[in-house]
Amino acid sequence: MSNLDTSLQYLKGVGPKKIKSFLKLEIKTIRDLLYYFPRTYEDRRNFVKLIDCKDGQKANCRVTISGLPTVFRPRRGLTITKIPVKDDSAAGFLVWFNQNYIKDKFSIGESIKVNGKIKRVGMDIQIHQPYSEKDNGKNGLVGRIIPIYSLTGKISNNEIIKLVSLVLKEYLNFEEDVLPDYILKQNNCPDIKEALINIHFPKDKESYLISRKRLVFEELFLLQLGLFALKNKYHQTEKGIKFSETKQINKFLKSLPFELTNAQKRVLNEITADMESHNPMNRLVQGDVGSGKTIIAVLAMMKAHFSGYQSVMMAPTEILAKQHYESITNLFKEYDIRCELLVGSLTNKEKTNILEKIKNGDVDIIIGTHAIIQDSVEFKALGLAITDEQHRFGVRQRAMLSSKGYNPDVLVMTATPIPRTLALILYGDLDISIIDELPPGRKQVKTYAIDSKMKERAYNFIRQQIAEGRQTYIVCPLVEESEKLDIKSAVQLYEELKSECFKDLRLGLLHGKMKAGEKDDIMSKFINHDIDILISTTVIEVGVNVPNASIMLIENAERFGLAQLHQLRGRVGRGEYQSYCILANESRSKISKERMNIMENSTDGFIISEKDLEIRGPGEFFGTRQHGIPKLKIANIFNDINILKNAQSAAQRIINEDPKLNLEKHMKLKNKIIKMFREELEEISFN
Ligand code: ADP
Ligand code: MG
Repeated sequence: MSNLDTSLQYLKGVGPKKIKSFLKLEIKTIRDLLYYFPRTYEDRRNFVKLIDCKDGQKANCRVTISGLPTVFRPRRGLTITKIPVKDDSAAGFLVWFNQNYIKDKFSIGESIKVNGKIKRVGMDIQIHQPYSEKDNGKNGLVGRIIPIYSLTGKISNNEIIKLVSLVLKEYLNFEEDVLPDYILKQNNCPDIKEALINIHFPKDKESYLISRKRLVFEELFLLQLGLFALKNKYHQTEKGIKFSETKQINKFLKSLPFELTNAQKRVLNEITADMESHNPMNRLVQGDVGSGKTIIAVLAMMKAHFSGYQSVMMAPTEILAKQHYESITNLFKEYDIRCELLVGSLTNKEKTNILEKIKNGDVDIIIGTHAIIQDSVEFKALGLAITDEQHRFGVRQRAMLSSKGYNPDVLVMTATPIPRTLALILYGDLDISIIDELPPGRKQVKTYAIDSKMKERAYNFIRQQIAEGRQTYIVCPLVEESEKLDIKSAVQLYEELKSECFKDLRLGLLHGKMKAGEKDDIMSKFINHDIDILISTTVIEVGVNVPNASIMLIENAERFGLAQLHQLRGRVGRGEYQSYCILANESRSKISKERMNIMENSTDGFIISEKDLEIRGPGEFFGTRQHGIPKLKIANIFNDINILKNAQSAAQRIINEDPKLNLEKHMKLKNKIIKMFREELEEISFN
């Protein structure tokens, strides 16, 4: 363990209270602090003469104390301290509020540098609440570019600056470059020490840019190398399966009650071409909610079947897996294609039975949840591995699924649009197909944001729709980080509505912690219209298809991501009826209102997530490990695409030369990657 990995509490001036605040910023060790990069900078290099100071401006001045302080108490609780100063252009005052001790800080004739807000009051030139320091120090906070950090709790920017300076002075020598020399040279990167100094305290714009570039490069490079290593573990060979041309598909298409949209046809052609070639397919199908991805997956699985291979489709929830299973068996009822459902809630006997069939090749298509990637699942001849709602799975799970076959073709499907850079990182090896067209005749879901005063009216509207024979979803607040609390709020609301305003209607409750049997029961009751209102957590977010449901009311809509709201809203508007989505927004903040506005005005998933990103920034959007990658500290998913490309090719070259990173010169890299991907790579051994 290096000194940098020691706890922050060993730093001078960091007590238990501070530690707590730092924890909120996810800073635990000295290294974490060293890698806590500024959010922005303030350029304090230029000094202004007093005479040139403008009202309202934040200025840096060099002044001399020219007289004794005066202290006023204009009213109880307010003390004003004024100290006269001058430079060679004019005289002025430093002004502090409620900082009595300041009057003893300076002596007449002393030269200081100050930074503060200028107030021109009548003839007075005043500098309010200035930061000040002696005019002889070198590394002060006035006269150079100052880092501005994101703050929380009880830590001030100046405190962080002080600690970072201390760490740079006393600990920087312990930091080693993980990037090999030759990579630094090839990419014109400064070494890590220089980069760290300049990212916190840039000499000038140039040194900032070059240091940032290096740190971004390192971050993306390590990420990419880690993902390559992960992939290497699971992919042994290069050559894939060549599937046959299949005439049967055309006949099947003719038997469908609808014609494929042009977008579906195009994507199907792309998939067919992939499958019929020798190269293994690696394709991402991106298409908005309701664009008809399932049928595309079904057609691909049919092709695999008629070519003599098994296929598997993994869905993120049991409800969705079951629904796929049912609609697929229904589609295939005229065909001799054997489907099975493999989910966690089966009895052991059922499971053993299915596993046996999968192994012996007595089943052609397997639909399931994570249960499918368990070790115990062995296929006779897996040719095609599909992941539905890919955004719900990590990189590792995708890799594990395809490792069940001998280089099977891989298809992943998602409704969540992601920025191009992230797509390149996550799916660098994937080709992308987009279904950018909805089936004809869909009515747009009308969306309204309401506040709590309008709840009553919303309930009446629900009642009216139910009287007309429709059904309703009520989705309960998402309580972050706690599934338990989610459930509690759903249960509570259910009880409330059942005993009060909807007591004459048939209500059902659905949440993630219910037993599978109960969930099934409720879901099939809802499908069969034995339930009017389904009160649920976000377990219904993906895939659920009940065309008679025409209203969705989302409680505390402000707590959801817009992409998630859009996904939820996709549960209504699936049939012939005009459908409605009511967003109960309990927040008065401007951002919430703006976000609700976007939902009211757009039904296009791509636009919605773009706007959401604009408002919230990528940090929050991609802050979680939901994609199975470590958090990015400095790289910007939108702007750093060129650096990403360099990082990718550098990582690729290394992996080609040294696939297991066993060469001495790559040792540090290997260790670093193992550390970074601890969760994803836990059982990776490169050997
Ligand atoms: P998603 O892309 O969200 O997974 P689904 O595959 O569940 O969407 O499709 C939504 C609904 O649209 C399903 O009921 C499906 O049968 C229907 N559908 C799919 N393609 C078409 C089409 N070309 N024309 C009409 N309906 C279609
Ligand atoms: Mg779907």
